[in-house]
Amino acid sequence: GERDVDEESEDEREREQRERMERAKTKKEKIRAERAALPIYPYRDELLDAIEKHQVLIIVAETGAGKTTQIPQYLMEAGYSNMGKIGCTQPRRVAAMSVAARVAQEMDVKLGGEVGYSIRFEDCTSDKTVIKYMTDGMLLREFLGEPDLATYSVMIIDEAHERTLSTDVLFGLVKDITRFREDLKLLISSATLDAEKFSDYFDNAPIFKVPGRRYPVDIMYTKAPEADYVDAAVVTVLQIHVTQPTGDILVFLTGQEEIENAEEALKERTRGKGSKIGELMVCPIYANLPTDLQAKIFEPTPEGARKVVLATNIAETSVTIDGIRYVIDTGLVKQNSYNPRSGMEQLLVTPVSKAAAQQRAGRAGRTAPGKCYRLYTAWSYEHELEDNTIPEIQRTNLGNVVLMLKSLGINDLVGFDFMDPPPSETLIRALEQLYALGALNDRGELTKLGRRMAELPLDPMLSKTLIASEAGGVSEEIATVCAMLSVGSAVFYRPKDKAIHADSAHAAFHRGDVGDHVALMNVYNAWAETDFSQHFCYENFVQERAMKRARDIRDQLVGLMERVEVEMVSDVDNHDAIRKAVTAGFFYHAAQLQKDGSYKTVKNRQTVHLHPSSGLREVLPRWVVYHELVLTSKEYVRGVSEIKPEWLVEIAPHYYDKKDVRDEAGKKMPKGKGRASMTA
Ligand code: ADP
Ligand code: MG
Repeated sequence: GERDVDEESEDEREREQRERMERAKTKKEKIRAERAALPIYPYRDELLDAIEKHQVLIIVAETGAGKTTQIPQYLMEAGYSNMGKIGCTQPRRVAAMSVAARVAQEMDVKLGGEVGYSIRFEDCTSDKTVIKYMTDGMLLREFLGEPDLATYSVMIIDEAHERTLSTDVLFGLVKDITRFREDLKLLISSATLDAEKFSDYFDNAPIFKVPGRRYPVDIMYTKAPEADYVDAAVVTVLQIHVTQPTGDILVFLTGQEEIENAEEALKERTRGKGSKIGELMVCPIYANLPTDLQAKIFEPTPEGARKVVLATNIAETSVTIDGIRYVIDTGLVKQNSYNPRSGMEQLLVTPVSKAAAQQRAGRAGRTAPGKCYRLYTAWSYEHELEDNTIPEIQRTNLGNVVLMLKSLGINDLVGFDFMDPPPSETLIRALEQLYALGALNDRGELTKLGRRMAELPLDPMLSKTLIASEAGGVSEEIATVCAMLSVGSAVFYRPKDKAIHADSAHAAFHRGDVGDHVALMNVYNAWAETDFSQHFCYENFVQERAMKRARDIRDQLVGLMERVEVEMVSDVDNHDAIRKAVTAGFFYHAAQLQKDGSYKTVKNRQTVHLHPSSGLREVLPRWVVYHELVLTSKEYVRGVSEIKPEWLVEIAPHYYDKKDVRDEAGKKMPKGKGRASMTA
């Protein structure tokens, strides 16, 4: 008996192993076939030859050709990884993560081993890593520790056409390096037609073009402008779903909130109709989407169903989703805008450029003829859209970049080799701001404080807040506040059907203090006290994902604070010290209450309004600092805390004097005044 069983199980084991190998083989073959089917594949050897011949090469191929996933693998196969790492930058963190995951899968290795990624607050690499995807911002940071990129044999500046701020600064830095590191290969890869411009900039570097395969895309416009483009997008999705042949849908919206609303609406309007109209598989994708949900957009659409991807402009070029036949383009994008004269920076929903609209439409014709529904009129396409997107460097605050360049020893910023220089006014503003923050001295040189600030991967205002917290004895508390502010998505949520419960739960965190900063800390601390429980988040209408991210960021910040020698001290009830530390970084964002319940910024006299999400509901403080300005229907400020006006003079004497903070009237605003008109 025993022997039989043994033999049987041995047979069984053998069979299992054989099957496993079969599966592995077919999986491998499938991947090999997929790789070989990409438009870039026939050019593999030609491309490697060109790279060998030239130190700098511009590579142009359409989105989805295989630039990002294939070129690093080709380079590795050709042996470049024996001489150093192969780096590849991405403008977006989601793209860096998802592409690294894909390449690890193609190479059949564990993510974080030979293939890894590095994004702010998350390093998924190891000693073994030879192909490293990273955000362009992270490569900028790496320059601080390794100004010659000595550990790299190849650097790919990918998605160069996106012209993000960090990518534009990298251009100048890597161009300089190639002059003294002849062994470093530099590849600039781009999806669109700017190739000549890149070539000109990089001393006439040759251009390697991979011809695209594109199918025709029918473009349709609306007859009249849409009042509610999110609703129009939802309606269009449903129309396509019931009237058009198979094929997935890609919708371009402007941000997480909109995407979540559209997702909700789609689910609501198709509920219970599955059998009649076929399943609709809704997949969101945006910058702060948790990793486990990102993978979903790449899952094959089940038979008989249709996938709808709701995306920000991340899906314009950074991420390619197969099977898209229909594109719905709202024609809008959320963008930085900066007014150097007032120093005001804001995120603004703006029309895309013609180039971007064409990119978006092109996503429908990658594997077969497609259709693009533009939710704007043909007239507005012709007359209202700019030809090209303005590079970010020309429409953003440069505080961060100037601090970074200064700490790299680059003092002559006006003479820096920018592809498109920023307005000189913006540069001057940044210098002034860094001076007021104490990061630069009056000769424009980096101070000791500035050097410490540059070490922190945060906006200079947040860095200053962190460092200033030690003096008030509240560095533990400020680490929490900064982590919560850095989460990037809303911590509190407010379901429509439970709004009253949510409001009262949230109000509890504001008790005893006039400010969102302390409230954010209170939420975190209360959560920590429950041992980071899920139940706590559920009961208090707090996003657990955001909280977990805050915890990760906080851990990282504490590590960084140790590195720049900020002592960790705690005084959790000293709210004045907490708000003073915030003021030390954000005194630029000080505003004074007006009679009508709005606020005016102290220096520039710009009118702003409290965001409805702000917890300052009982009394409106006379003086506040705010975290950020967002423009929706009005100029709203978010993340607001009460301050004492005399702090401004005490903390930022270079910037404020006594007459700026004169306070004529006496009392605080009574409850409710000026709040009636507040809807977002
Ligand atoms: P390019 O950089 O030229 O735009 P990519 O290398 O990003 O092209 O994409 C090549 C192919 O790899 C595309 O067909 C895309 O769908 C696929 N791909 C990329 N990332 C993933 C992923 N995370 N999961 C599955 N497929 C992916
Ligand atoms: Mg790419």
